[in-house]
This record gives sequence, C-alpha cells and structure tokens, in this order.
Amino acid sequence: MASRPFRDLAHNMSAHLSAEQNQPGMDAGRVLEFVCIRCGASYPADVTIDSRGCARCRDTAPANLRPVYAVPHLHPFDGATSPRSLWRFAHMLPCTEAEAVSLGEGLTPLLAAPRIGAFLGVPDLAIKDEGRNPTWSHKDRFSTIAVSVARARGAKIVATASSGNAGASLAAYAARAGLKCIVTTFAGSAGAMLAQIRKYGATVLPLVSKMDRWSLLEQAAARYDWFIASPYHGPVVGSHPLGIEGYKTIAYEIVEQSNGTAPDWCVLPVCYGDALSGVWAGFCELFAQGLITRLPRLVAAEVHGSLSDALASGADALSERKMLFDSLAVSIGTPRSTFQALKALRESGGHAVPVNNHGLIAMQERLAREEGIFAELASVTPLMAISVLKAEGIIAATDRVVAVVTASGLKDLDRSAGSNEHDQVFLTTDDAWRWLDKNGLDLAS
Ligand SMILES: [Zn+2]
Repeated sequence: MASRPFRDLAHNMSAHLSAEQNQPGMDAGRVLEFVCIRCGASYPADVTIDSRGCARCRDTAPANLRPVYAVPHLHPFDGATSPRSLWRFAHMLPCTEAEAVSLGEGLTPLLAAPRIGAFLGVPDLAIKDEGRNPTWSHKDRFSTIAVSVARARGAKIVATASSGNAGASLAAYAARAGLKCIVTTFAGSAGAMLAQIRKYGATVLPLVSKMDRWSLLEQAAARYDWFIASPYHGPVVGSHPLGIEGYKTIAYEIVEQSNGTAPDWCVLPVCYGDALSGVWAGFCELFAQGLITRLPRLVAAEVHGSLSDALASGADALSERKMLFDSLAVSIGTPRSTFQALKALRESGGHAVPVNNHGLIAMQERLAREEGIFAELASVTPLMAISVLKAEGIIAATDRVVAVVTASGLKDLDRSAGSNEHDQVFLTTDDAWRWLDKNGLDLAS
C-alpha cells in the first residue's frame, strides 16, 4: 500500500488536475497518454481513437490502447464512500465526478448463490448482478464514462453500432447528457433492447449489410465530430478505451464486497472482452497497491471458441471461427474475440470455455428458481463454463467463484420462452384448485 505522504501528494495533484480539466472543452486531463496493450507503444493523450488500436500492431495482431494516468497509483478505496454510484471511484477514472453523466450506475450486489453453487459443485459461488444497473446491463459502467468524456470534449453526437445492451445503454446516457445518439443496427433487429434504444430517443439506422453499420460510423468519424463508442473496424480490438475504464469498478466492488479479498475465479460472458479487460485492469491495480494479496484467475464464457483456439495455439492474432449454430446468447455471439480478452486470460492463468445452446434455458430457469436472479441468456453462460471447468477438475469444490451476470433476463424474453409456461386459463377458482391438486403441489405448507 502506498505510504500516507505519497497518497496525500497524489490526492493534491489529483485535485489540481481536476480543477484544470473542469474548464469547458478541455480534454480529460487526467490521461497522460495511451499505450498499446500488446507492444507498449506510446500515443499522445489527444490521439484520435479510430477503433483500429495500435498502428504498429495493426497488421500482425490488432490490439487496443489503454490510458495511462498523469497521477498513477491512487488508492481506489480512499474517499470512495460517495456519491452512491461508481463515481465514488472517480479518482481512478478518466474524468472527474463534476464531469460525470450519471444515472446511479454501479454498486450492484454480490449475492451468495449457495443453491446453484451446490448444483455446479462449487458451493462458495457468488453472483455479481449487473442486471441492477440503470439500463439493466453492465454496459452502463462503460456508457457513463464514454458519454461523460464525449460531453467534456464538446461532442454533440454519440454513436454506436449495436442493437443490444450497448446501444440501449449509450442511448440512455446520451439522453441524460442532452446529446444526440445515433445507433446503427442490423435490418430486422427486434426485441426489448431495440425498444429501449428507441424509447430513450436515439435515432436508429437499420442497415441491410452488417458491414455498413461500421462503414457509416467510419464516414461519420471522418466527416463530423461524432464520439463513437463501439468498434467500427475489423478485426475488432475492442470498444473505446476510456469507456472500458468503467469496468475496473466491477473488480473494485467485488473486492470491497468480499472484505478486501479476491476470489479464486472470476467468470464473465465475453464478446469483444471489454469487460474482461477492464475487470482484469481493476484487479491488477488493487494487487499492485497491495490491497489484495493474490489475483483471481479469469474465465471467458464464449460462444464460437476463438479465445479457446488462441489460448491453445499461443497466437496473438485471433482467427475468425465458423459460426456453426445460431446462439441463444446473442449478446456475445461473435466469431472472433479480441487480443485484449486474450491478454487478460493469459496473464491471469485463465481459461476460455465455448458454450452452446444446450441446457442454457434450463440453467437460466434454475438460477431464477433457486436464487431469485433472472439473467439474460448470455449472462447464464458463466454458469455453464463453471460446470465444464469443475467437471474437468480445473475449478476445485473449495474454490471461491464469482460469476458476473451482465444483464437482466427481461432483455431477451423473446429468445428464452421457457419450458414451464402454460396457457391454462381458469374460469372459476374451483377449476384453479383442481389444476393445483392434479399437479401434485403440496398446498398445506
Ligand atoms: Zn502495439
């Protein structure tokens, strides 16, 4: 842990920087530079984030950038008691609390889940329920930072390519900030998340070609000063690096809610690995400062297996996998993940587990029925991955495991129609009683 004089000095410097960066139109002054997460190349703080990541790594193994702070090694928990949102960690983030566009995100519960844990063979299982965020997904931790940075930089329009949780979240925070939001989607997209995007007042542009979703954003970046939060080039390196900083707070909260300890395993659903990468950065910061004595191992629950492939081959460039089936876990259904996810898995001694549709809805229902937590299907994939790693003897029965449930089950009701639904309608209470009797329910207890 940093000595008290150093921490005082750091806070004084932070306060100085905060005063500077509160001037309108200034960049997020807390960020000194960006560095490539793969080769360490340095880029200035005002570098254009064009979603292609490091220029040096682009042709070999595309890699995202990470911000480096002007005042490193602050203590995440110093003064982190207010406000009641992740902005109590503002001193660890790219902009100040005064700049924050907030809907009260973060501070989600870490819930002991002994029944589903016993079922999976890991009784010491806890669920970090990110479905409790303002737009019912973990993406709010990203959007609150991204929209705050966009507004501080004077952007009038924020944009993303998404018909899912990322789009719904960005639309909400743009509304909160009074900024316009443009969301490019697939033609034919539907469901609760798209409804959310529209209700928050975003302009939705459905495009017939999936690639055109990105092309339109690329053109907007070239012609106008839109702040683009999502990837818009392939191969994807990840989303905007400043937004990813918001995911560090998941790690801070898990440690805070575990009496200052890290779990043995932290398991997340993974698409492009923004959250995985951010969570790993958060744990590493805590470890570097001596606030935790060991790092957890990370597990990526993925769909098509690009991370599993790369872990096995040792390559830095991920290959695009064939999509052999239509995944129910639509939020993470990419054929190719990112180097940032791979790096987090490698550094933590982690694993990636491909999860198909088999048993997914049954696991969703078990989690809801036994623990009272109703999760999006993609958010159930960590439980499937835990089951696999326990069966393989990689996760031990005594290990403490945290599964991050990233979004609410209300997000994809259309895909998760369950096995226990019935269309029975009762004309009288007698009919209802007869049905209860016939179905063998013990009604006296
Ligand atoms: Zn590089």
